[in-house]
Amino acid sequence: MPNTTSDENRAKAAASLRELLAGNRRFAEGDPSPHVVSAAQREALLAGQHPKAVLLGCVDARVPPEVVLDQSVGDLLTVRTAGQSLAGVALGSIEFGVRALGLSLVVVLGHTGCGAVLAALSDDHADGHLGELTGEVADRLAEVVGADPVRATGANLDATVGALRAMPTLRTPAGHAPFVVGLLYDMGTGVVAVSDDGGLLTDG
Ligand SMILES: [Zn+2]
Repeated sequence: MPNTTSDENRAKAAASLRELLAGNRRFAEGDPSPHVVSAAQREALLAGQHPKAVLLGCVDARVPPEVVLDQSVGDLLTVRTAGQSLAGVALGSIEFGVRALGLSLVVVLGHTGCGAVLAALSDDHADGHLGELTGEVADRLAEVVGADPVRATGANLDATVGALRAMPTLRTPAGHAPFVVGLLYDMGTGVVAVSDDGGLLTDG
């Protein structure tokens, strides 16, 4: 694993984030890349994976990350849980991208109209594993006043980004904390907005 400096990490993470945002613009404008994967490209990928980012998204069928960000095979290490919950084994998969692959960009992709957020806001909590999951989202929303779904969606995204930034085990092999960025997908317009880039696109 290359022993990159933090400046190199920042430049690489910022470039990757810009590529994802450019991909979303192509998607939202109805002009995505064709994503035909040739045999030669598949063969090149046999040598190893070098995705642009770890992406934690929602399981919602209407928000497939590779599609809405116009990315192809090998571009994203994607983890999906309902409401981007960090419950269960999701964290281990995120750590795999950062610790084993050395990725310095972790994207959390929230979306409008998230059923898991609505379920967490309701008093009618499910039992079983689903209940654990919505309970974890509900805990994150505990400080949100009222039950406004728009505010709750933003609060849920902010809380996930904050939790990942605070996680001491999320470090690249060179010892760097990854840049954790929150993006919000609007299901109506198809547009992704940066909700919190931690200064990645503006500082430094
Ligand atoms: Zn959702």
